[in-house]
Amino acid sequence: MAKPPITKPFVDILVPVALDQTYSYRVPKEFDLAPGDIVTVPLGAREAIGVVWADDVDVRPGLHNRMKDVELKLDYPPLKPELRKFVDWVSGYTLSPRGMVLRMCLRMGNDLGPAREKVGVRIAGPAPKRMTTARMRVLQLLADGLVRTKSEAAHEAGVSTGVIDGLVDEGALETLVLPPEPVARQPDPDFAVPEFSDIQRKAADTLRTSVDMGGFSVALVDGVTGSGKTEVYFEAVAQALRHKKQVLILMPEIALTAQFLDRFSARFGVRPAEWHSELAPRKRARTWSAVAAGEVSVVVGARSALFLPYADLGLIVIDEEHDPAYKQEDGVRYHARDMAVVRAREVKIPIVLASATPSVETVVNARRGRYAHLQLPERFGGQHLPSVEAIDLRREGPPRGRFISPRLAEQVKFAIERGEQALLFLNRRGFAPLTLCNACGYRMACPNCDAWLVDHRFKRRLVCHHCGYSMPPPEQCPKCEAKGTFVAVGPGVERLEHEAAELFPDKRILVLSSDLVESMERLRQELDDVAQGRFDIIIGTQLVAKGHHFPKLNLVGIVDADLGLANGDPRAGERSFQLLHQVVGRAGREEGRGYGFLQTHQPEHPVMRALIAQDREAFYAAEIEVREKTGYPPFGRLASLLVSGADKHETEAFARKIAAVSPIHDDVRVLGPAEAPLAVVRGRYRFRLLVKSPRNFDLSAYLRQWMAEVPKAKGTLKLEVDVDPQSFF
Ligand code: ADP
Ligand code: ZN
Repeated sequence: MAKPPITKPFVDILVPVALDQTYSYRVPKEFDLAPGDIVTVPLGAREAIGVVWADDVDVRPGLHNRMKDVELKLDYPPLKPELRKFVDWVSGYTLSPRGMVLRMCLRMGNDLGPAREKVGVRIAGPAPKRMTTARMRVLQLLADGLVRTKSEAAHEAGVSTGVIDGLVDEGALETLVLPPEPVARQPDPDFAVPEFSDIQRKAADTLRTSVDMGGFSVALVDGVTGSGKTEVYFEAVAQALRHKKQVLILMPEIALTAQFLDRFSARFGVRPAEWHSELAPRKRARTWSAVAAGEVSVVVGARSALFLPYADLGLIVIDEEHDPAYKQEDGVRYHARDMAVVRAREVKIPIVLASATPSVETVVNARRGRYAHLQLPERFGGQHLPSVEAIDLRREGPPRGRFISPRLAEQVKFAIERGEQALLFLNRRGFAPLTLCNACGYRMACPNCDAWLVDHRFKRRLVCHHCGYSMPPPEQCPKCEAKGTFVAVGPGVERLEHEAAELFPDKRILVLSSDLVESMERLRQELDDVAQGRFDIIIGTQLVAKGHHFPKLNLVGIVDADLGLANGDPRAGERSFQLLHQVVGRAGREEGRGYGFLQTHQPEHPVMRALIAQDREAFYAAEIEVREKTGYPPFGRLASLLVSGADKHETEAFARKIAAVSPIHDDVRVLGPAEAPLAVVRGRYRFRLLVKSPRNFDLSAYLRQWMAEVPKAKGTLKLEVDVDPQSFF
């Protein structure tokens, strides 16, 4: 049959840059284009990658000759309608340019180049004249007729690769190009199915059924740490695999541990494909293509994996759904959990949210019956949850200048004597959060930010945690010029290490803090060392809170349980509860009994009380009541407008101008502008406006209407819109 003539000579192309609109291009005669096709186009003076967003485009006849041609059609599978629709949706919701959202879908790398070729060797001709024992070993090895890579052959025969090269040169061996290894092999849904407890089986059955039925549904797997949530949602994964569908398991980046990948492979026989920020470029490119081609069945990834071009997605799982790391705080400000629910709805597939401490938003959705609520109230194997006690710092605190109370120190000692591990948790990097001159009271502050410099002894620098500014510790006070008068105020993990080393000489202590981690690979190694029992005391920031299983860890001491409650964040209580619950939950997962100790100045605080009484429901009930009363999410909606600029007055004036043009609406309240809690960052002054609306209000549409009235930000001024903000500093 003859190809129909091309009737669509013009297409609209969306390019992955900070633009909302598409541009029209002419389609050259050589190829036909349809929406979703990935192409290159001239954009200004350069060439850009782009995606056909619409065909059948009408262009005014007078403009025809000025249109540029699409240059190339690239050899990728087209982006499916569901993904293009998702891009439009996320852009509309977050008020980010469509091009920026598209950019997250096109992380295939600019220039892929051919996959790196692996060269294999095999026997080709008669044995060489000059024979050595090394050569003999190689020839004996390859006598089985199998092809091996050069390095494999050398390794297995115990010779250098030079020996192999020599044999190739003399014609005894020949080389051949091996096909590239797949990104991931096919997981086997029936590789190792666990025996479930009754309650686990019920939850697994529900998930399996929702996968069988297909269609959009949300299930919350809500279970204490160690209850088997992962095993249970693996059943949903297995069922999707049986249906030959692709699965996405999202995790907070830092929880994407080797331990998890190993667990996956213990259940399914092979490791899944990974997607995260540290993926090497070539691996990234190959993974992207394999996902688009449907060659990869399961992707375990950080939030950006949500934007991959799945060929046939059948299930999404969000592990640790409450984790604040799911919110991207720069570029496109999106919440990966919420957008995942949207994507599942678009694609009409089930989504599973898992957590031991679900977000208040999710709990409310479950209570309203919008999400199936699957509860696993007990640890698998009958281990008890750790018992939690408060150490009242007002009455039994440590001596001055110390941070580990005598009671906590005693407990650590007992734990080590029992041959167990202890974790001291403090969510503060560095040695001390403040450096102060004892003579005049001068405090070392960042020159660019409204923040104190944090003493990092290990690096011998004072560091700003907001802009990265750093300086060596000063010899003398910049104000009173006294020498040797600076003192460190307050603890960070490095300071705790000193204290622990004094209290427990000869014990093996490891500090785990993101600034001391050189790479994810290294971190995985260190976590493994802990799991193997190579350390007695672990001192860590929230890096240690997530997803790790330390069999010998039975004692957790929270050095400053009040730390997270102090800021003005409406979710401060929830965050503290989740973090502390999770950290304490690291204890007693395997054998023996777990203990948690909270050092606090306010043991009567609802968060502490709920942790001590292990009364999660009491915490949620109280928190939900407060949110309902104040109209905070999920009972109302918020958006935040951050206005920043190099000049304080100019910035404030701009913020006022923005407030002045806000559309009047009975249901919407605009608060501010007010100086942000962190009033200066990187030399930029910051003012915030907060927008509050009812729950079922189209806040994005309201904001769009508003933004159309806002004068263009000039000079250093900048306006950033954040719908459903998670961060308020
Ligand atoms: P969670 O995700 O709720 O923290 P996990 O799924 O990690 O719980 O389970 C905790 C531990 O118990 C893991 O080591 C897991 O392999 C084990 N486990 C849970 N359920 C079962 C089961 N039905 N059979 C065997 N082991 C199980
Ligand atoms: Zn700074």
